[in-house]
Amino acid sequence: MRDHIVAGNWKMNNNQSETEFFLNKLIKQTKPTDVRVMLAPSFTQLSQAVTILKNDRITVVAQNMNAEFSGAFTGEISADMLKEVGVMTVVLGHSERRAMYHETDEVLAKKVKTALASEMEIIFCFGEELGHRKSGKYFEVVEKQITNALFDLSEGAWSNLILAYEPVWAIGTGETASPKQAQEMHAFIRSLIGQKYNTSLADKVSILYGGSVKPNNAKEIFSNKDVDGGLIGGASLNIDDFMAIVNSF
Ligand code: PEP
Repeated sequence: MRDHIVAGNWKMNNNQSETEFFLNKLIKQTKPTDVRVMLAPSFTQLSQAVTILKNDRITVVAQNMNAEFSGAFTGEISADMLKEVGVMTVVLGHSERRAMYHETDEVLAKKVKTALASEMEIIFCFGEELGHRKSGKYFEVVEKQITNALFDLSEGAWSNLILAYEPVWAIGTGETASPKQAQEMHAFIRSLIGQKYNTSLADKVSILYGGSVKPNNAKEIFSNKDVDGGLIGGASLNIDDFMAIVNSF
């Protein structure tokens, strides 16, 4: 049985009072279910989020970290710094970081190794751009992203990995992959892991879908056999929308 997960990515949104307001509502509205709820505020709100959520099962997640353990990297945050404030999970490979901050598969492979060496859990994002979808190269692109960053890991390392398929053309655009497109890609990803490692490992890996998931489409997307939940951007900023998505399984 795989974990069902709904993870919110706040990106560069929500200040201190907005974070406090949202999290207190989240605590009140989250019922004990088997859905794992995760939330990624900005770096400056991580400590506050950990404190507010200390008695809850909600996981606080960082949106990024550096591949190095320490050193002269002005403006960067290390795995140890995240752990020091109680954050044990990190998003790596988000398409905005790949596109705007030039994070290549090679950089991401290094970040993954650093996070694992630091005993952190990873939500690893990948997905094709619109041009790849239109030219029919989407399977090829996704296979390359996963192979380059993850396929030299040991089988044991995979217990700390959550995957998030996020077609770039669906992120923040209001355009969602159809449930059929999502299922087809998730099944493909699971088969790649099965071929590289084994099917028992592949069956255990949670694969989230991300890209304009909203309360009105979450149920249909999550009902697919290989879709284990969602990584939610825009809709995670509104508590009612976020809770409606959490309750969509
Ligand atoms: C994201 O940023 O990971 C994301 C999926 O955003 P949105 O839900 O707004 O498309």
